[in-house]
Amino acid sequence: MKFLIANWKMAPETPKQAISLAKATSTIARTSKKHVQMIVCASYVHLSTLRNTTKTLALGAQDVASTTTIASTGKVSAPMLKGLGVTYCIVGHSETRANGDTNEVVKEKINRLLESKLTPILCVGEKERDEHGWYLSTIKDQIESAFFGIAKPSLKRFVIAYEPVWAIGAQATREATPTECQEMILFIRKIIADLYDEKVAKTIPVLYGGSVGEENARAFVTDGDASGLLVGRVSLDPKRFAKIAQRIVQQ
Ligand code: PEP
Repeated sequence: MKFLIANWKMAPETPKQAISLAKATSTIARTSKKHVQMIVCASYVHLSTLRNTTKTLALGAQDVASTTTIASTGKVSAPMLKGLGVTYCIVGHSETRANGDTNEVVKEKINRLLESKLTPILCVGEKERDEHGWYLSTIKDQIESAFFGIAKPSLKRFVIAYEPVWAIGAQATREATPTECQEMILFIRKIIADLYDEKVAKTIPVLYGGSVGEENARAFVTDGDASGLLVGRVSLDPKRFAKIAQRIVQQ
């Protein structure tokens, strides 16, 4: 079973558009459900609208509050998400890290999600690559900090997404290659094996995200060894998103 996660980011603009996109995505999920676990991570404002329109989809949020204090104007807590039928939540996305989320804040968010029995989708990724391989220490720090103090049983509910920042979004400098993806996924599994053991390292899903489209999707899961894909912009286009699902199923 592969994961296919749609990160709708700050779109669509209206509830009507969100429902229509969810219905189209739900149809895609139905046709690929034997092989693909599809998760839609929508803006907070759409979550309650989507709750009843997405039976074949799992519902995810894009962020969560790091604290439990009620004096957190504008924030949304893990129990609030749980109450809306949300089961997954992205944490540590490069766009929220760019807005100030440190590894420590990401760690607190993970704690809040686990306390509410929600599944964190932990995004990790380096801003740029250098020829000496220093970027590997960025990934190591992100993972070690996120997993600090987490007991093995909690890892049954955990997804990691490797998203090199330089390959994400309209500002991407280039696409990652399946080989770069495979090497990093191996590296991430090695860090997990050192923290826990080989079994945990093998079973935890490690996805790839960053400018995934119908042309490169298959290579990331076959040659790149990704347990699935996290898709941003293309997840807003049901025809293209359907092709990505088909490409995963084809393997
Ligand atoms: C993302 O924002 O997580 C992402 C992968 O975006 P895109 O697919 O648009 O590069």
